[in-house]
Amino acid sequence: MQQQRGVLYVVATPIGNLADMTERARTTLAVVDLVAAEDTRETLRLLAHWGLSATLVAYHDHNESRVAPTLLAALEAGRSVALVSDAGTPLINDPGYSLVAAAREQGFSVVPVPGANAAICALSAAGLPSDRFLFLGFPPRTQSQRRAWLAAVAAEPGTLILYESAKRALATLADLGAVLGETRRVVLARELTKRFETFLSGQPQALIERLKANPEQQLGELVMLIEGRRCASDQLEIAEQERVLRILAEALPLRQAVDLASRVTGAKKNALYRRGLDLGLGASD
Ligand code: SAM
Repeated sequence: MQQQRGVLYVVATPIGNLADMTERARTTLAVVDLVAAEDTRETLRLLAHWGLSATLVAYHDHNESRVAPTLLAALEAGRSVALVSDAGTPLINDPGYSLVAAAREQGFSVVPVPGANAAICALSAAGLPSDRFLFLGFPPRTQSQRRAWLAAVAAEPGTLILYESAKRALATLADLGAVLGETRRVVLARELTKRFETFLSGQPQALIERLKANPEQQLGELVMLIEGRRCASDQLEIAEQERVLRILAEALPLRQAVDLASRVTGAKKNALYRRGLDLGLGASD
């Protein structure tokens, strides 16, 4: 009789709040023969939280090519394997791609067990267009490389999503302004699902000032979302709406200025109010 082949499960874990671990993820980790983990200590802590035990194998960027054949052999021998990273969905800026690709190539079933992902979590609540987006992962660390990297996506009309450490946020915001212009809306989604979760929204320079005024915002984990490129006629229309709003806000509280600006320009009040806040016009309300 032919032996049944194993299954590779790609299991998402929480990015902060442990309550975001799905029941299916817990059950999968409890029943598989092996758990391939980016950091076994991290995964042991997670398993302990749920009172689970498992046979762990370290699988990370530095041992991938050595360990993948062992995991594929386990699948061939009919054993089931779960792949997890430290947080969120494996393969999304985390190890696993070569294992999944090899498993598929060799005809094994690869089953996703979905859950948290920082990029999608941020996008779902940022208030930027979500119908089209481009996920970029981490920017390069040096300024010249980062600027060239941003220039390559300057024409993208969808929302840009990138991962960044909060301590590099100031430098990256400065490059965003320099390369993509100072008028795009940026949202900083920090410490998602954790105690000090914050969403800050504004244009690059205004955000730099807010971060400098509040150094706590320069700590922790961060997703940056950047409005995609607007077409030229939209840009002109928005510039005109902002011009009217700025003039009215010099004399009136923001809500009243928005009300009048909306009547003058035909722009939606909600969008104008949000833009007024992004432009720092809300202080008098
Ligand atoms: N695989 C993960 C996922 O599905 O999102 C991402 C792993 S990547 C190595 C880690 C980066 O994701 C962090 O540097 C940060 O940019 C982002 N990130 C992870 N958790 C986050 C959180 N709770 N809040 C904000 N950003 C987070």
